[in-house]
Amino acid sequence: MNMGNCYVGIDIGKTNMRFAVSGLEPELKYYSKRTYLRDTPDYLFQQIFKGIQEAVEVAGYHKKDIKGIGIGVPAVVNRQSGSIVWGPDWDFLSGVSITKPIADFFNVPVVADVDTVMAAWGEQWAGYGQTCDRFAMLTWGTGVGAAIIINGEVAENPDNLFAEFGHSTVSDDDWPCKCGSVGCVDTMVCGGGIARHGYLAVIQGQQTLLKDLCGNDPLKITSHMVFEAANKGDKVALSILERIAVLLGRLCANVVHTIQPKKIVIVGGLAERSQFVLETINRTMSSRCWLIFKGLTECEVVASKLTDTAGVLGAIYKVQKIVAKKNENRSEESQRVAGRR
Ligand SMILES: [Zn+2]
Repeated sequence: MNMGNCYVGIDIGKTNMRFAVSGLEPELKYYSKRTYLRDTPDYLFQQIFKGIQEAVEVAGYHKKDIKGIGIGVPAVVNRQSGSIVWGPDWDFLSGVSITKPIADFFNVPVVADVDTVMAAWGEQWAGYGQTCDRFAMLTWGTGVGAAIIINGEVAENPDNLFAEFGHSTVSDDDWPCKCGSVGCVDTMVCGGGIARHGYLAVIQGQQTLLKDLCGNDPLKITSHMVFEAANKGDKVALSILERIAVLLGRLCANVVHTIQPKKIVIVGGLAERSQFVLETINRTMSSRCWLIFKGLTECEVVASKLTDTAGVLGAIYKVQKIVAKKNENRSEESQRVAGRR
């Protein structure tokens, strides 16, 4: 039976919730991923409570051992109140505090932030942050998120915002983006964007395995089918991924021009497919960034080794920092009280 320090990390995406438990070190004693239903706020909290209770129990802890809960969500969050400010997939929770009901139920500190900020804290704690003091992060999955980490700190900007360079425009194509703009790298290279490139190739009559993989229904093409076809050497699928990589490479060049990170780490659902794109991303970045090709700085784009766990690890790390700060303040206060006696 584990005793004492139990921290819970939750990472909620568009369709899945991930739950994890650890002690003070970045080693997960429990991890699970499950789909959830976006129905009412009450129903969402029921699903969260159940997931936390199960996670803590399976990890060998009791409810009373929980010291803090961190939660990453696909939306901008008010960092003080925990209320949801804006998220294209989370309008049903707009204005609702994601932290208060959980804090009331478990009686522990609860912190929430946008999923990319949490993933960046995770990469800092358990990933490339262990060996690199200046890096940027790209989450690549159903969207493209971003973050900047310098000297061990994730840039948490004013107005509850963060480094949102996933919505930079690096192409003339004006595909509509869920953020409300057009042509963002997010909409061009995310899972749905890759599927759309595949769809366009098939309806333009290009010769590709994708036609068979989708059963002659191009609307059914998914990003996974494009990767599958690429794996089999399909030229059309490979050229789609080449295009994706060039766009990501241009984005990375812009990031190097702006902050000169030593690494750009790709995390998220598609990070494990990075072998298809890393070489072209690095080549494009280097050829588009004068700071690199003149030898003034160096940067390498790499895939995270944390697979799907960066978000839960970061949520745990962030709440640990808050709990540590509270304990520090409490001991300073008790020293002051003792000094007055
Ligand atoms: Zn956008």
